[in-house]
Amino acid sequence: MTAVDSNIAPAPFAGTVAVIGLGHMGGPMAANLAAAGVVVVGFDLVSSALAAAREAGIRIAASGEAAVTRADVVITMLPAGRHVLASYENGLLAAARPGTLFIDCSTISVDDARAAAALAVAAGYRALDAPVSGGVVGAEKGTLAFMVGGAEADVAEAMPLLQIMGGRIVHCGGSGLGQAAKVCNNMILGVSMLAVSEAFVLGESLGLDHQALYDVAANASGQCWALTTNCPVPGPVPASPANRDYRPGFAGALMAKDLLLAVDAIDSAGVHAEAGRLAAAVFTRFAEGEGAGLDFSAIIDDIRRRGAAPGAPAAPAAPAAPAALTDEGAPS
Ligand code: NAD
Repeated sequence: MTAVDSNIAPAPFAGTVAVIGLGHMGGPMAANLAAAGVVVVGFDLVSSALAAAREAGIRIAASGEAAVTRADVVITMLPAGRHVLASYENGLLAAARPGTLFIDCSTISVDDARAAAALAVAAGYRALDAPVSGGVVGAEKGTLAFMVGGAEADVAEAMPLLQIMGGRIVHCGGSGLGQAAKVCNNMILGVSMLAVSEAFVLGESLGLDHQALYDVAANASGQCWALTTNCPVPGPVPASPANRDYRPGFAGALMAKDLLLAVDAIDSAGVHAEAGRLAAAVFTRFAEGEGAGLDFSAIIDDIRRRGAAPGAPAAPAAPAAPAALTDEGAPS
């Protein structure tokens, strides 16, 4: 497993890159490639995304198939697994050149990532899963974190491109393990934000000052990113979304989506993970309302609203991703 930081200068990339999906994330990622001198051909179903990409120096193709015909590398940045599988099966794999490297950067389930890579390999190509964290700001600034699954040689070939779009690149292992790293990390994040938020609400009801609880927990065993960077109450961490009416940040809809992908992986692997399931249930309910567009730390208001009602919500047995969580980009 290797990690690469952005202070290593990217090697020049002489080929052509097709980017399929030019939305909130794919648009700025493609723009950064073009700004670095890479020839980028793009396609999206939405005309406003195409217009913005054209402005950023991306050549616009008439279809996904047309975009990949002359590409050496195909990057997909699509809403959900079904979009990735459908685009592979319904045109991209048939239209690409032999030897093309497919890199899927969408956040999708581990099983879907492995299925997509298997389709590409069966069609004679090479494939990586390379989901990201860092949000729209990271995509715009070229500071995304990439978690990559696939063969070492293919990761090495992708590295100059990933370094243009990202600040930290970690090769996590074989096919699907980039997505695995992402769902495991975000399960930690969802569970820890829930714990931190419940602790602040409990502290409030016991008469404990926010700053006092922060000063203790931030320097004790309760310390975590959800507390010291994304603190769910205003005050202790001035840059946290709680200080700006919970504008994301990391939107509740995306946290719910990622936790449902974690539950997919939990079910598929047969792991006993009660906290992850519970966090998925809580954030799914949160994202069904206004929480979808708020930072996920606004879960603290949901906890307050529910008051002292006994019992936790039941985790869904086999959660299906609500359309609203997969088809919309984060508003950040
Ligand atoms: P988005 O909805 O803004 O963009 C997706 C784009 O894909 C849309 O413009 C849509 O028109 C296009 N599209 C769908 N099907 C297509 C097809 N067959 N051919 C061409 N284009 C097609 O979503 P986004 O915010 O850019 O997110 C993309 C992926 O990145 C998702 O999987 C998301 O979970 C993940 N992600 C998002 C963020 C974030 O902060 N937005 C952060 C990390 C990861």
